Formats: sequence, C-alpha cells, structure tokens
Amino acid sequence: MISSLYQRADLLRSDAPFEVLFLLTTKCNLRCTFCCEQGTELNREIHQMSQYVRPLVNDLGVTLIDLNGGEPLLRKKADILNLLKIIANQDALASISTNALILDEQYVRELSQYTPIVNVSLHGVNYSTHDKLVRVPGAHDKIIKNIRRLITHDIDVHVTSIVLNENINEMPALAELCYKEGAETFCMNVLFGRGRGKNILHEQHQTVATLLPLRDALRKQYGKSLHIYVNESNVGQCVLVRPNGLLVGAPQNPKCANDGLISIGDVLDKDISEKWNSYAHKENHRTYNREKFARYFGMQDAS
Ligand code: SF4
Repeated sequence: MISSLYQRADLLRSDAPFEVLFLLTTKCNLRCTFCCEQGTELNREIHQMSQYVRPLVNDLGVTLIDLNGGEPLLRKKADILNLLKIIANQDALASISTNALILDEQYVRELSQYTPIVNVSLHGVNYSTHDKLVRVPGAHDKIIKNIRRLITHDIDVHVTSIVLNENINEMPALAELCYKEGAETFCMNVLFGRGRGKNILHEQHQTVATLLPLRDALRKQYGKSLHIYVNESNVGQCVLVRPNGLLVGAPQNPKCANDGLISIGDVLDKDISEKWNSYAHKENHRTYNREKFARYFGMQDAS
C-alpha cells in the first residue's frame, strides 16, 4: 500500500515540518548499550495522541508521522492500529521506528493496511554481535524473520544500524543482507551520545568521517538496488510530539537547554503554526528531512 503522497517530491517546498515523531513511550524490550533513552515507564496518555493528528496535518502541514519510542509497539496493538488508521484517514503518511521484535504474522498483516514504511534497527549480521549489543539473546533471529514478513507484506523496510567498533566490520555483510532480503535502504548512524550512549567512550565508536568512505564503497557495489546512507545526527534535527501534545524540537546543537530539546508549543493551540514559523532551528529540521525524504523516496544523490 503506497499513498499518493509517497510520490510527491514537491512536499518539501512547503515550510511545514515534513515529519514529526510521536513519542509513544521511552520503554523498550531491548537494552541496547548505546540507547539514547533511559527506559522509563510507559507514558499513559497515548489515547490522547490521536487528537493531535488532524491539527498536525491540516494546520501545520505535516506529511509524515512516525510512531517512535523507546519501542512504540510495546503499546497495545489496538491503540497502535487506531492511531495508524487516523493518520491514514487524514491522507498523511505513517511510519514506525521499531526493533521489530514483537511483531508476528498477524500483526504485520494488520500493519500493512495503514503503514507503508517501517524503520527497523539491526546492528549486526551475526546474531552474537547483534544480541550482545542489544543485550537480549535470540533477538537477532526474530528481527530477521520479521523483516522478511514486513517485506513480504509490501511494506518498505529501512534498516538502520548504530556503528560502533564492535560491529563496523559487519557493515558490508549487513548491506548485503539488506540487499538480499529486499530492504529499501540501509542507514549507518553514528552514536547519539545521550542516555546510556553517554557511557560509550569516544574511542569505542565510529565517526562520520570513517563511515563516509564505507558508504561510498557500498554505494558503488549496490548502485540503485540498495540506497545506502550515513546519518550524522538523527537526534539533532527531529521534531517530537510528546503524549501531552507538546511539540518539541531537537535542533542540531546538542548544547541547548534540556538535553538539546526546545519546546515549540502545544499542538492543540490555535497559534501552533505561528510558533513553528518562529522556531529558530526550523531550517535544521528542513535540511534533515530533505535528506530523510530523499532516503525514503530513493533519491540517493540528495544526501
Ligand atoms: S536503541 Fe532502540 S531498540 Fe535499543 S533499547 Fe533503545 S529504544 Fe530500544
């Protein structure tokens, strides 16, 4: 299922935020060594979030709503499907950023009615490497199985990895796995350096400078059959919606107050568009989303 919006490259000409992330929970069923969350309790107010969809899409002009976390699928399946349905009814795109661990055949089939894009985190081609990083034995096998299910149900899968010293050598094999399984993209991320990730020493992780030559070599190998990216700072430019309706920007500068997060305004307030327009880091978000848009829509040269 591909929405007509999926084809519209003109969307980025708009001044609106292209994508917002719905922060459904900070809790997770994995315990990744590098996680930028702290794994606190599930936020209770998910049912409220459905009322944010209409103003975000209609008033603010948002195109894509990503269900994010933590692990968003720890929320009740009925709540997730309801939220996805509401997004689809607004003719907006929905994506989910997940570790895919708790999916099964039935869940994937239901998701495929509303969700054209799923971002799956996978950090190694060998189960031992991956499961050591996520600190849950058996996770790798289940995630691979669910990547196959998602692709079989016609959902675009975008695989993302955090690249540390432990898994850098597996990146070429991981790209090959993505290619063979039929993923749309493979994205290598540098460490976010927040939450638990703060404990990882500088010399234990990779930098953009080391990943770019690898990306170029892999691009040469796979051409247009697999889109390969390096994401410098995923945290840096996204815009989040908290369960209480607060629109929060994470501009590129990690030294901003509150761990890099800046409040923009309440989604339900009438003047939210004005508040967005006066958000000082709006251009960071737009630059990031031009890249992300290009990634989702297969325009590799734009990164
Ligand atoms: S990095 Fe993602 S998958 Fe890993 S513990 Fe954190 S939220 Fe979960």
